[in-house]
Amino acid sequence: MILLQRVFLNNKICDILIKGNRIEKISDKIDIPAGEVIDCAGKAILPSFCNAHTHTTMMFLRGIGEDKNLFDWLDQDIFPREAKLKPEHIYPLSRYALLEMVKTGTTCFADMHFHSSGTLKAAQDMGLRALIPYLGMDLSDDKNTEHSVQQAVQFLEMPIDNPRIKKVLCCHSIYTCSQKLIKTFSDLAKKYGIYFQIHVSETQKEVDDCIKKFGCRPVELLYKWGVMGPKTHFAHAVHLDDGEIELVKRTGTVLAHCPTSNLKLGSGQMPLQKYLDAGIKPGLGTDSVSSNNSLSMISEMKLAALSAKNQADSVLAGKVGDIFGMATKNGFNAFGFNAGEIKEANLADFIMVDMDNQFLLPNNNFKSNMIYAADSSCITDVFCDGKPLMRNKIIPHESEIVSGFKKVCAVLMANS
Ligand SMILES: [Zn+2]
Repeated sequence: MILLQRVFLNNKICDILIKGNRIEKISDKIDIPAGEVIDCAGKAILPSFCNAHTHTTMMFLRGIGEDKNLFDWLDQDIFPREAKLKPEHIYPLSRYALLEMVKTGTTCFADMHFHSSGTLKAAQDMGLRALIPYLGMDLSDDKNTEHSVQQAVQFLEMPIDNPRIKKVLCCHSIYTCSQKLIKTFSDLAKKYGIYFQIHVSETQKEVDDCIKKFGCRPVELLYKWGVMGPKTHFAHAVHLDDGEIELVKRTGTVLAHCPTSNLKLGSGQMPLQKYLDAGIKPGLGTDSVSSNNSLSMISEMKLAALSAKNQADSVLAGKVGDIFGMATKNGFNAFGFNAGEIKEANLADFIMVDMDNQFLLPNNNFKSNMIYAADSSCITDVFCDGKPLMRNKIIPHESEIVSGFKKVCAVLMANS
């Protein structure tokens, strides 16, 4: 057991007992002998973040393809470079992504890419929660479809004996994947009781092309194909009409909002407040470091709030509580983890922050400070599943992770 003493939570000082991987007790004073007692005076506890959509293997592409729209960026800069990735590159790339996540307070992420075993090993070694992916993208070529389905079945049969890790089958999008692949992956995900994720309605062009090709909008199409449901995650979902919003709500489909990526690639602004008013509870994601260019959920919260206000032309859009919930409990809940709030019986996934950090003073509104003023320099400790991932800003093996990452970047970017 770990006893956190004198920690700031919800505007008061309290003690918190961690038993195993759960928050056992929260009280003004706890007098129970614990294996470890941590004096948290001057620190506040908050739920850690859940990154609802990212691509860990794209870490080597930070700063590549700037000032381009989504389609030019993908075709000219991303897909050709991703084609160079080999299985042995994945572990060092993912490990570096996870290092950045831990430093910025994230303990859970949903990933999307072609290779999974290196990311799985990184998440297991570094102690984070993850939705580990297998990504299909067949470009409507039957040979590719067959290959992707074979690989997906192998992925599904791979045993993972770790309650922190879940699987997600991914299709890139309706414009890079055939109906057969999308339906097969979605059906396989349902059969195996796992998650399914796809980029949806990221741009107006995607919507227009879909209407031309299929006679309906992307979300309507995926509904017709039987893809939607509570274990289906739509990344982006920027351009939804009222009927599609209703379909998302009715089916319990999860949205992953990635405002920085959407703005940077000129994809548009999600009408977030409209979705929230409809009762949808989106998660928040950073997308990759090539379209963000960081994995910081603190930065993402600020942009989500500002973008919502700008899009709705109302200061009442993107309220502090809603935005903080998107970065924490909405994501965890969508992925079936009982975390994202500091309360008894929840999983012990949390961060501690230095309340004297320059961006957190004065403490007139703590959550507002976290969203609008803070950067990750305030984070001192990160715990996942009751275990420390970072203590007093120290993460095990950091220099080795950095040097391994730099080596792989040098290989992948040679002659680039
Ligand atoms: Zn993405």
